[in-house]
Amino acid sequence: MGAPSGEVIVTGGLGFIGSHLVDAYLEAGHRVTIIDSSTGAVIDGKDYDRDPRCTVIRQRVEDYLAAGGDFAGADRVIHAASYVGPASILSRAGRLGHDIIGSTAPVIDACIGAGTPMCLFSSAEVYGRSGLLDEKDDIVVPTHYNTRIEYAIAKTLAEAMVTNSRQHGLRGIVIRPFNVAGARQSRAGGFVMPTFVQQALAGKPITVFAGGEQVRAFIAASDLTRFLIEHMDAALDSDDTVINVGNPANAITIMGLAHQVKKLLGSASPIVGVDGRSVHGPHYAEAESFHKIPALRAATSLGWQPRIALDELILSTAAYYRAREDRRAVNAPL
Ligand code: UDP
Repeated sequence: MGAPSGEVIVTGGLGFIGSHLVDAYLEAGHRVTIIDSSTGAVIDGKDYDRDPRCTVIRQRVEDYLAAGGDFAGADRVIHAASYVGPASILSRAGRLGHDIIGSTAPVIDACIGAGTPMCLFSSAEVYGRSGLLDEKDDIVVPTHYNTRIEYAIAKTLAEAMVTNSRQHGLRGIVIRPFNVAGARQSRAGGFVMPTFVQQALAGKPITVFAGGEQVRAFIAASDLTRFLIEHMDAALDSDDTVINVGNPANAITIMGLAHQVKKLLGSASPIVGVDGRSVHGPHYAEAESFHKIPALRAATSLGWQPRIALDELILSTAAYYRAREDRRAVNAPL
């Protein structure tokens, strides 16, 4: 690890991925400024308020910039603020383009203005198809335009804006995260890992959607943050603007995950088949990627490898939710 260096700005720093990034940058010796509207916050941020190395600005980044804020002097900007989760995005149907481009465009402009490198958090959702997914592959844009596809199209446009803004002097990269999991991820977003773990801990039915044969590959938040801490500078200098970050070694069917969670946690929960629409409403849809597995060409060529195995990820998520309730999820349907 190099010498502690300058200030990192994390938009969405009170969210699940954002807060793991904040912790990792603080641990690596950086000062951190969080810009977060609190909309998707999984923590209240009071510990960060008390930390002299941390500043918390409770505002949308686009409002912060419109009011004259800038990124001058910052070492890097990690733009992780976004609606996330198949259940959460349903409330933003018809507005996701506005939400995603409305924050990403001013962040790009401000980074160019300040000469600050940036990382945009996109989504593996952009692929629009099933299988082993490589950054060099063409993506598919299904035209049935459900909310997930609206989200994917908006993220795709944001990716293209970062990529092409390199022509205007931006030093920028894009991360496509694949099923990140770990402490603080709330079942309120509809995510499967905190849902199954909390169901198993409570002895409630573990609810498997869509038959359970669909495959996901889960990556620990700590593996994702380590990619940025240790490899972002090399990524900024490489030709690969868009980088998958995931853990194909943890690929498992959702039915397999249900059984593994039940077994590891010694739970008596029954495993039941459920239609996701009966839980999240008629507009809930499965991802276009029935099987969603990352190819890691770009990230591993920079010297990074994920480390945390699935069992450890399940157990650490369970340890977190044994010790506290999921406060964001008090009104969640599951
Ligand atoms: N899933 C499930 N039961 C739940 C929540 C999710 O079977 O209570 C399934 C969901 O249908 C999907 C998979 O788990 O096929 C992963 O869902 P998640 O929302 O975590 O991620 P994504 O679908 O965006 O990859």
